[in-house]
Amino acid sequence: TVFNIGSINIDHLYEVDHFVRPGETMSSTSYQQVLGGKGANQSVALAKAQANVKHVGAIHQGDQHILQQLKDFGVNTDEIAQVQEASGHAIIQLTPAAENCIILYAGANHTLTESGVRKVLEGATDDDWVLLQNETNLVAETLEWAKASGAKVAFNPAPMDADLTRKVLPFIDLLIVNEVEAMDLAKADTIEDAARILPEQYPDLAVMMTLGKDGVRYFSKAEDLQVPAFNVEAKDTTAAGDTFIGFCLAELQRGSNYETAMRTACAASAIAVTRMGAAPSIPTLEEVTDFLAK
Ligand code: ADP
Repeated sequence: TVFNIGSINIDHLYEVDHFVRPGETMSSTSYQQVLGGKGANQSVALAKAQANVKHVGAIHQGDQHILQQLKDFGVNTDEIAQVQEASGHAIIQLTPAAENCIILYAGANHTLTESGVRKVLEGATDDDWVLLQNETNLVAETLEWAKASGAKVAFNPAPMDADLTRKVLPFIDLLIVNEVEAMDLAKADTIEDAARILPEQYPDLAVMMTLGKDGVRYFSKAEDLQVPAFNVEAKDTTAAGDTFIGFCLAELQRGSNYETAMRTACAASAIAVTRMGAAPSIPTLEEVTDFLAK
């Protein structure tokens, strides 16, 4: 099982001619509600990659439709608490120039409790992975409890909080970051420097650094290998990273080696960038297998 302890958001998308100005009341020409949040996106990617995924998180008690959507994707929702606080959400204005401007409210994503998380982790074994991002509360504590449970721990520190991340590195088996986050964490100016500094400073850490259209680099004290991205025409890179993480962990959970896992994950995210949107753009395992066979 992959226990994904993470955010669930409702994204409210409004198409507008321009961003609303101070004092202005403006009508939107369209409105769409979509499931979002890095946590939920990664759970959907895990489920589409046919991993056994249990999402751990919280939503508002009235938002049953969110649970249904996750279930329809194949995510186990038994450990999603239903609370009084509003569900996490984002209010997103989109202009014709494809610029966006976003108000984010963490809401229920910040209501995880120590007893709730610890109880879930009691069910984890060393065959399991625990995955976290940085959009929920109790992140540092949860990573420590996860490590103590014996499970393998993966952390995608997004949005990046470098101080918090440095503090929790001893609890992490696999850190998954993009190049900007890696450089931030290493206090490095270049990708090369980040790939040198991080293994020096943290000899027990394995890092996957995603590099957009350049693929992904995996490094630790002992290894340094790069897997290229697939050459596709990118339309929308939303959720590319989340797709990568979901497919990569699903492969690792199935017992694949790191190189195979990264290749499969690069194929999955290559397909995702050719499609619009977040969760809907994530391919199925079958689509990824077909893509790799071509
Ligand atoms: P994030 O969205 O977290 O910044 P990246 O942009 O590094 O993550 O993308 C994650 C993965 O998605 C990459 O490792 C790569 O495999 C794939 N990817 C991203 N952009 C492209 C692209 N333009 N063409 C092909 N693959 C891509």
